[in-house]
Amino acid sequence: MFQKILIANRGEIACRIMATARRMGISTVAIYSSADANALHVREADEARWVGPAPSAQSYLDIAAILEAAKATGAEAIHPGYGFLSENAAFAEACKAAGLVFIGPGVEAIRVMGSKSEAKTLMASHGVPLVPGYYGADQSEAVLTAAAREIGLPLLIKASAGGGGRGMRIVRDLAEFPAALASAQREARNAFGDPAVLLERYVENPRHIEVQVFGDSFGNVVHLFERDCSLQRRHQKVIEEAPAVHLTESQRATLFGAAIKAAHAVNYLGAGTVEFILDRAGGIYFIEMNTRLQVEHPVTERVTGQDLVAWQLRVAAGEPIPLSQSEIRCQGHAIEVRVYAEDPAQNFQPSTGRLEHLALPAESSHVRVDTGVAAGDSVTPFYDAMIAKIITDADTRADALQQMQRALAQTEIVGLTSNIPYLQRILAHPEFQAGGFDTHFVEDQRDALIPVVTPTPPEVCLLLATHALRETAQGLRRYHAPSPEAGSPWERLLGFRLNEDPKHSFGFLRGEETLLLELRQTAAGHELTCGGQQMQFAPGLCEGPRIEVIQPSTRLRGSVIAAARETHVFWAGTQYRFTRLNLLPTGEDEAEAGDKLVAPMPGAVMAVLVEVGAKVARGAPVLVLEAMKIEHTLVAPFDGTVLEIRYGVGEQVLSEGEELVKLLPLAEIEQT
Ligand code: ADP
Ligand code: ADP
Ligand code: MG
Repeated sequence: MFQKILIANRGEIACRIMATARRMGISTVAIYSSADANALHVREADEARWVGPAPSAQSYLDIAAILEAAKATGAEAIHPGYGFLSENAAFAEACKAAGLVFIGPGVEAIRVMGSKSEAKTLMASHGVPLVPGYYGADQSEAVLTAAAREIGLPLLIKASAGGGGRGMRIVRDLAEFPAALASAQREARNAFGDPAVLLERYVENPRHIEVQVFGDSFGNVVHLFERDCSLQRRHQKVIEEAPAVHLTESQRATLFGAAIKAAHAVNYLGAGTVEFILDRAGGIYFIEMNTRLQVEHPVTERVTGQDLVAWQLRVAAGEPIPLSQSEIRCQGHAIEVRVYAEDPAQNFQPSTGRLEHLALPAESSHVRVDTGVAAGDSVTPFYDAMIAKIITDADTRADALQQMQRALAQTEIVGLTSNIPYLQRILAHPEFQAGGFDTHFVEDQRDALIPVVTPTPPEVCLLLATHALRETAQGLRRYHAPSPEAGSPWERLLGFRLNEDPKHSFGFLRGEETLLLELRQTAAGHELTCGGQQMQFAPGLCEGPRIEVIQPSTRLRGSVIAAARETHVFWAGTQYRFTRLNLLPTGEDEAEAGDKLVAPMPGAVMAVLVEVGAKVARGAPVLVLEAMKIEHTLVAPFDGTVLEIRYGVGEQVLSEGEELVKLLPLAEIEQT
């Protein structure tokens, strides 16, 4: 076995490979770009070498720099992970030339399978079933157009060198063909440096089923059963599972037979995946082979109980495949979700930034988490925005799904927007739960899957209030040396005022909603008034972000994290994101509080904290105005009733002295 390997990758897959290497007593060398100098994969490696600046082309794809790092550290072999150079035949060749073992298949297998056209031509000659199509080398427009006509509609144009769901165009009308072809060729050239395309019949509503295969240098090939990766968004996998449901034993036999044939056809060595689509009539067609470890390999590991990275290392070191076909079993059901830093509500725009808070589900015999980041790390725009993969398994699919829902409910991310609410909605969807859905599921259910904003529940208000109390108490302690005496005013958590019941107001914005929390300390504990509701509570045991609220007959638990100007509450599996309003009126505002509620300067209305008809006490916050990047809380100049609100949220107040809210003094009401 190797003594030391270099991992030519980053993120979760680099960490995943290191975990197995560590278990096998193999030393690891990480590589990193300038953007990753303090990344988790660097922290976890025994050694790390800088290979270039942030852009991948100048670092993780720089073959010379990576080989130099291997030489300098004395690594004997290179594991490429997935993505980057994992399917690059020139890299595999360069490793060999440098006397290093490339942990993957032979150069020829990578090259042939790297071209979808060549792969299909070879597969056809071995009797592997293909979608009808054109895979020829002649790329003239006349030949492609004639082929398109013959194949019929709908038609799919694919970049031959493509991957990652890119470079594909669906054609439903031959009149669209020339434009679609030109744009597919353009994308193929830009993304993969090769404009060649292939054409195939577009299969409507297929399922994506793939088979994990393994080959060794003794000519053995085995399969490790199948995965269903039909849950895709724009041809990219989002959720994967093993085994695939609703497959007949004869379909399975066809899949495994074809996959093994495909692997033998290229003398396959190491881990590979043979991808198929299943049409609605049950027909099975080869689409491509990925000559690397797949992102979704953990589901196979969970149902077979094998470590595929360990297998890769063994066969690369010249050992035979650890098990024979009949010794490989598939038991139970496993499911994986990809947690991404992206915003489903904003057309899945990538979200970058620092992970101010990250709580991943606790690992157990049913829950596995593969990640490449920890709290405090950043997701940068340079690389894939995956935060973690969460994998759950159980005896049945339904139980594995339930484990996943629980695991996602325990996942807390602050600092970035993630796709967790989107994943939760998929998991809760009856069609997903029934299984056997096709690759169009996400598109068909688009509206049902985009997270909706629901009003803030009272439980969340209580958590917010308890957190605010704690912060205020800590704030007070920061300014005043802690007083050991019980009964000292600083021991009372709320804003202490002479001759008054201690009370405090906190304001929050959440989407269109403005929340005004009014807290009062009573003899019994605390009273929260919010949205016209009054609730009695007492703060319970609070540890870090975990908050407990004690109510007369319940104990409520959640997490609250304050980061920059936001406060995030996690409760019952949902994240609530608030912007804090600074409700402490500045001395100046108070001094100016004359007989009218007026704008001290031009600005924009951030929040209106009262409604028409509401009674307000002198000094109570009424409206928040943002001017010169500072929030100004305008308070009621006297006890009174709100007669009219003249400016709504978001509206600009153009001049100073403008009356914003009209109040009727209480004194006048009493007189009439
Ligand atoms: P898989 O087929 O292993 O599930 P996907 O098809 O979802 O992977 O991944 C899309 C493509 O993007 C794959 O070809 C994968 O190798 C590539 N990829 C994934 N992560 C990265 C990354 N961090 N950098 C570059 N390419 C990546
Ligand atoms: P990539 O290399 O980008 O992974 P694939 O050929 O594996 O490209 O296709 C990606 C996805 O596109 C498949 O999982 C499937 O959902 C869809 N797809 C591919 N070929 C077809 C086809 N002929 N008909 C319908 N859908 C297809
Ligand atoms: Mg694919």
